[in-house]
Amino acid sequence: MIYLNGRFMPLEEATIPVLDRGFIFGDGIYEVIPVYSRRPFRLAEHLRRLQNSLDGIQLKNPHSDAEWGQLLQQLIDRNEGEDQYLYLHITRGVAKRDHAFPKNVTPTVFMMSSPLTPPAAELKASGVTAITAQDNRWLRCDIKAISLLPNVLLRQQAVAAGTMEAVLVRDGFMTEGSASNIFVVQNGTVLAPPKNNLMLPGITYDLILELAAADHIPLKVGPVPEAALRSANEIWLTSSTREVLPITVLDGQPVGNGQPGPLFKRMDALYQSYKATVMRKAD
Ligand code: PMP
Repeated sequence: MIYLNGRFMPLEEATIPVLDRGFIFGDGIYEVIPVYSRRPFRLAEHLRRLQNSLDGIQLKNPHSDAEWGQLLQQLIDRNEGEDQYLYLHITRGVAKRDHAFPKNVTPTVFMMSSPLTPPAAELKASGVTAITAQDNRWLRCDIKAISLLPNVLLRQQAVAAGTMEAVLVRDGFMTEGSASNIFVVQNGTVLAPPKNNLMLPGITYDLILELAAADHIPLKVGPVPEAALRSANEIWLTSSTREVLPITVLDGQPVGNGQPGPLFKRMDALYQSYKATVMRKAD
């Protein structure tokens, strides 16, 4: 069951008008929220980022946080599976095709749920492969915009190279992945690029920083030069659906010794225990 403009319905019954500005211009934003044991994970943080994305495209939030909370819980209740991920999508609505904002238009709100399978133990044990690519996206990567063509092309470049992710480099510095945030470990210190207009402020990124600080893992938030990426002992990829994964091969070269590193293992353990604690509290 999906949600579209005030109604829950089977996915097959959902349609939108072709003049929806999401379809015509990619004029909209989205969120992806993981659900564990039928409870949204870090909901307040996701709703804050949703508001920032809406502010970034000057679109009024159609719901209060309390309303979003209720709608999302209804969506969870109407779908099977203890673990799900919720996709929430808002466009500027349906209007005659004109680039400028239309007046008095109701935004389109679409939400769906999909099964969430956390990364398999084998994947964490082997690590994943990635390529580097030039970050050729726009300068508002902090907005979670539905217009994802550059990300689509970059991710496809990674897949065509037989890898899982493209690690993006802009002007000599690492920004993020095509659909993930990236951390680098150098000599026992975790390096994280700063949150700015060049990357999406990942909800998982924030959690990794919190967990590292709480466990006294040396951490440096600042521009990460491409050279640091190339000489890294470890590289991690993070996202709400993939949690934290080690990148063990970059551009065909082993990262460090080519195995998931000790700090990855420590961080993954911290992440899993944080998740377990939050889920217990929800019971
Ligand atoms: N950067 C980009 C470009 C993404 O698409 C995503 C999520 N898919 C992330 C970072 C990670 O964000 P989050 O941890 O909130 O899933």
